[in-house]
Amino acid sequence: MIIEGKTGPWEIVIGLEVHAQVVSNAKLFSGASTAFGAEPNAQVSFVDAAFPGMLPVINRACVEQAVKTGLGLSATINEVSVFDRKNYFYPDLPAGYQISQYKQPIVGEGHLDIDLASGETKRVGIERLHLEQDAGKSIHDQHPQKTYIDLNRAGVALMEIVSKPEMRSPEEAGAYMRKMRALVRYLGTCDGNMEEGSLRCDANVSVRRPGEGLGTRCELKNINSIRFVMQAIEYEARRQVEVLEDGGTIRQETRLFDSAKGVTRPMRSKEHAHDYRYFPDPDLLPLVLDRKWIEEVRASLPELPDAKKARFVSDYKLTPYDAGVLVAEKENAEFFEVVARGRKDPKLAANWVIVELFGALNRLGRDIASSPVSARQLAGLLDLIENDTISGRIAKDVFGFMVETGRDAAAIVEERGLRQVTDTGAIEAAIDKVIADSAAKVAEYRGGKQALFGWFVGQVMKSTGGKANPAAVNELLRKKLAG
Ligand code: ADP
Ligand code: MG
Repeated sequence: MIIEGKTGPWEIVIGLEVHAQVVSNAKLFSGASTAFGAEPNAQVSFVDAAFPGMLPVINRACVEQAVKTGLGLSATINEVSVFDRKNYFYPDLPAGYQISQYKQPIVGEGHLDIDLASGETKRVGIERLHLEQDAGKSIHDQHPQKTYIDLNRAGVALMEIVSKPEMRSPEEAGAYMRKMRALVRYLGTCDGNMEEGSLRCDANVSVRRPGEGLGTRCELKNINSIRFVMQAIEYEARRQVEVLEDGGTIRQETRLFDSAKGVTRPMRSKEHAHDYRYFPDPDLLPLVLDRKWIEEVRASLPELPDAKKARFVSDYKLTPYDAGVLVAEKENAEFFEVVARGRKDPKLAANWVIVELFGALNRLGRDIASSPVSARQLAGLLDLIENDTISGRIAKDVFGFMVETGRDAAAIVEERGLRQVTDTGAIEAAIDKVIADSAAKVAEYRGGKQALFGWFVGQVMKSTGGKANPAAVNELLRKKLAG
């Protein structure tokens, strides 16, 4: 996206740092539970509370999740990585440091292919992925004078995934977040729940004249919705253009996005790595991974969104766009496959899922897990279309009843007498009646007004309650009107 300033065009440059909470039963370096919603401080081990002399022990399950995610990003897995202490003071960080990875992260360079509205895909480089601990939570609204600390989250494993500065518009940043969320959900390495904060991002934004080197960036902290990421970037880029065009300079700083006002505000000047006095944690040995184990993890990966999309295009002959819509959520893709398997026309199945089912779910404010129509039931409806029991037109009505009642299509068709009339005798009788009742129109038609044909079809359909087989109506009507 190009911003047209007073003095000419500007290009936006974006790099995203995503924090993804690892799906695991226990924390990164302790056995305390990570379950959501427990009483404050009910899930805190001595390690998490930083009692003197307590030693961290790495959780193998968290390491496996990070490796899976790295493989999903087609990234280099580093067989040796190192945990460092990142020193800073926060009341909810009892140790006075966070165990993180700095110079030697567990995952190196990779990439993520993002899907744009134009139907194109763009490859965005991944710089690294490292493992680190989350901090606790300070609670300010329980007491007028006091702040409470809840350490349940302290020590929970996070993956920080850092992109290269290769995105060029808010749209691309939004597509990146959507794809990252889909990927970690497919992998089962993060639940991707942005409202609960298990997936959040810092957006780094700068602007430059097209073709020039990178400008100074600002970092927008801790944004937890895709819409807000896009809004914050757009606002921030326009702010920077204004500052620069007025002859000012951009100060590298950390800013906060105020979603109520739609603006970004300075929070602090940018801290530098040396401020944190990083050093290797002397309580932890370097993490050494076995190459064979990495290959086992690779072999255990599920089919990921890009591969699934390609397969839907080749196996079911879907357009890349429709395939992209269906694979965006794993549950939607699974639903579609149940509907499509064994149907004559998988494209019709895709249409029904995308248009009718998603439309109905939208209206009901439900997701696919609580769909009133199951995949098997929708497949049953499509069978009735494919074996000419009902027309596509009547099928929409039947679907409406299915959504309302949760019953099977076949039962609804029988009960309401919606079976298609394929008996040519009955259709001929209906046609004869329409022709007899509309002598004037028949004369016009025979006189050359071909456009009236549709009107006749409509009349016949109406007189049969929409149940006549449309192909048979067309054929017989053409013959009879020819006289
Ligand atoms: P830090 O550790 O200080 O946050 P990094 O070098 O790790 O810095 O970069 C953090 C993020 O900033 C990365 O996602 C990177 O792509 C992005 N980034 C770096 N330079 C720029 C820039 N000039 N404009 C926009 N984003 C940038
Ligand atoms: Mg950073």
